Amino acid sequence: MTTIDSYNPADPDDLVASVPSTGAEGVAAALAGAREAQRGWWALGAAGRSLALTKAAAAIEGAADELVELVVREVGKPVAEARGEVARTVAIWRYYAQAPFAASGEVHEPAAGPGLLLTRRRPYGVAGLITPWNFPLAIPTWKAAPALAVGNAVVLKPSSEAVAVALRLAELAGLPEGVLTVVPGGAEAGTALIGGADVVSFTGSTGVGRSVIAGATGRGIPVQAEMGGLNAALVLPDADIAQAAAHLANAIAGYAGQKCTATSRVIAVGDAYEPLAEALAGALARTPAADPSAPTTSCGPVINRQALERLTDAVDTARAGGATVLAGGARAERAGWFLEPTLVEGVPAGHPLLEEEFFGPVAVLLPAADLDEAVALANDTRHSLSTSVHSRSLDVALAAADRLDAGMVRINAPSSGVDFHLPFGGAKGASYGSREQGRAALDFYTASRTVSVLPAGEQ
Ligand code: NAD
Repeated sequence: MTTIDSYNPADPDDLVASVPSTGAEGVAAALAGAREAQRGWWALGAAGRSLALTKAAAAIEGAADELVELVVREVGKPVAEARGEVARTVAIWRYYAQAPFAASGEVHEPAAGPGLLLTRRRPYGVAGLITPWNFPLAIPTWKAAPALAVGNAVVLKPSSEAVAVALRLAELAGLPEGVLTVVPGGAEAGTALIGGADVVSFTGSTGVGRSVIAGATGRGIPVQAEMGGLNAALVLPDADIAQAAAHLANAIAGYAGQKCTATSRVIAVGDAYEPLAEALAGALARTPAADPSAPTTSCGPVINRQALERLTDAVDTARAGGATVLAGGARAERAGWFLEPTLVEGVPAGHPLLEEEFFGPVAVLLPAADLDEAVALANDTRHSLSTSVHSRSLDVALAAADRLDAGMVRINAPSSGVDFHLPFGGAKGASYGSREQGRAALDFYTASRTVSVLPAGEQ
C-alpha cells in the first residue's frame, strides 16, 4: 500500500503524518458514500444544516490551539498567521451557517396570462474539492462550507503536504457520515474525483489547474479553478514610501511568499525607484527567515527541498545574467527549507522570475517611466490575481485600478489579503469559472431551475 508522508518544513526529520493513499477505487467508494449521505443531508432542511455548520464552527474554535500548532508544524506557517487562519476558518463556517436560510430563487410575472414563474436553486449532489497546502484550513473550508450549506455532500482531496490538517478539520466538523469525506491521495485520486463528482472546485498551480479544467469540462460538469499568481505592486512617486515598503515586505516575505496573492514584481514609477529600493531592502532585511513557531516570525520556511532549490536556482541564474541582489539571496543558516527574503533588480528580460510563479520570498524590482508603462508591465502576464497600487492620490489609484488586469486590486495595502465574504478569484490565466467565497460560492454549488405554475383548471 502506498502512503502519503507529510514532513515539517522547518524540521525535515519530523514526520507529521503517514496515511494510506487513496486509489481510484477508494475515491469511487467515497463518492458512492457521499451520494448516499447527500439525500439525508438535504432532507435535514435549512435549520438542520445550519445547526450542523454552527456546531462545526464551535468545535473548530474549541480546538484552535491544537490546530494552530498543527498548521505551524505541517506547513511551516508562522504562528501569528496560523492563528489568523484558524480564526478566519471559524468565521467562514459561521458565515455559511446562515446561508441555508437565504432566498434560493425569485418570483417573476408570466409574459402573459395568470400564473407564477419561479426560479429555485438546487444542489448538484456531490462536490469534489481539490485543495493546495498553503491555506490548509481556510481553502478546504471556503469550498466545503458553501457546498454543504446549499445541500451538497463533499469529497475533499487535500494536498499531500497538508493531509494531517485536512483530516483533523473534517474530524472536528463532525458532520454525519459520508457528508464530508477526505480522500488523501495524489494525482490518481484527483483524477478519479473529477471523474465521478457532480461539480468540481480546484485551487492550486496553473499546470494542474488546466488539466483539472480539461477533465471536468470533458465530462460537462461545472468547474472552477483558482491558480497561480505573478502579482505586481505599483508604487507611484507620491506614495508614502515607508508605508509602501512595510506593506511590500509583508506581501513578499510573509509566510515566505507562499500565498497566491504574494507580490513578486515591484514596479516603481519615476522618482519612487531609489527611495523605494532602499526602504524595501531594509524592510526585508528586518524580516529574516526564522522559526515559524516564534511569535515574531513573519517569514518561515518554504514547503520543501524542491521549492527551495527552484528558488535558489532562479536567483542564481538571474545574478549570473546581470541582476543585482539588493536583499537576501541565500539560504538561512538553519536546518529546514529557509530562504532569506530576497529582492533583485536588473533581472534580464525573459528570465523565469519575470514569467513564472515561484512561490517563495523573492521579488523583482522594476523601473517604469510613468503610470502607463507601469500598468503595461503589471498587465504583461497571464497570471493576474492580485495587484496593489501605492499612491496618496485616490484619483490616480482608482484610475490605475480600472486599467489593471487583476481579480483583486488593493490600494495602499499589501497584494496579499483576502476578505472571506467577498467574491475571490483572478483574471486571465489565473482563474477559470465563477468566483469563490461570499454569495458567489452559493451560486456555484447550485443549479437554477425554472418552475412555471398555472392555476388549476386553466386551459
Ligand atoms: P498543486 O497544483 O501542486 O496541487 C494542488 C492540488 O492538486 C493538490 O491537492 C494535488 O494533490 C492535486 N493534484 C496534483 N496533480 C493532480 C492531477 N493531475 N489531477 C487532479 N489533482 C491533482 O499546488 P500546491 O503546490 O498544493 O499549491 C500551491 C499552488 O496553489 C500555487 O500555484 C498557488 O498560487 C496556488 N494557489 C492559488 C490560490 C488561488 O486562490 N488562486 C490559493 C492558494 C494557492
